Amino acid sequence: MPAALVDDFSDGELTAYISEALPLARSAAIEDALRTSPHLLERLRTMLAIYDGGPISLGEIWRRRHVSCPSRSTWQAYLADQIHGELQAYLQFHLSEIGCRYCAANVADLQVNDAAAAEARVSKIFATSVGHLHGARRSAQP
Ligand SMILES: [Zn+2]
Repeated sequence: MPAALVDDFSDGELTAYISEALPLARSAAIEDALRTSPHLLERLRTMLAIYDGGPISLGEIWRRRHVSCPSRSTWQAYLADQIHGELQAYLQFHLSEIGCRYCAANVADLQVNDAAAAEARVSKIFATSVGHLHGARRSAQP
């Protein structure tokens, strides 16, 4: 996207975005532009700092709106290292730059489930191997 378009948002629109009064499509356009425009991100952070609605973070707005939150299955694929390129960059941006707590919680939950599933797989393999060994020993006896 050309730089001129990336930062084509008025202060009024950004304020509306912060107070969640902006139409969904325009909000999505802002969130999309934030990825490629550090300047827009900086503008929004500055506005958030002086916003009189109390302490509020970009991640908080993002989480409330869920406009561009990836699905749980997308995060699962991300954790399994099955996502690359632009989408991978977006997911990293979503977690680290935006700091979306909703998705961070989702990812943490998936990681816990993953570890539990891996542990279950290991004990199943172990149990099966032990079973085979017993069976082998039994059939080796006269
Ligand atoms: Zn999110």
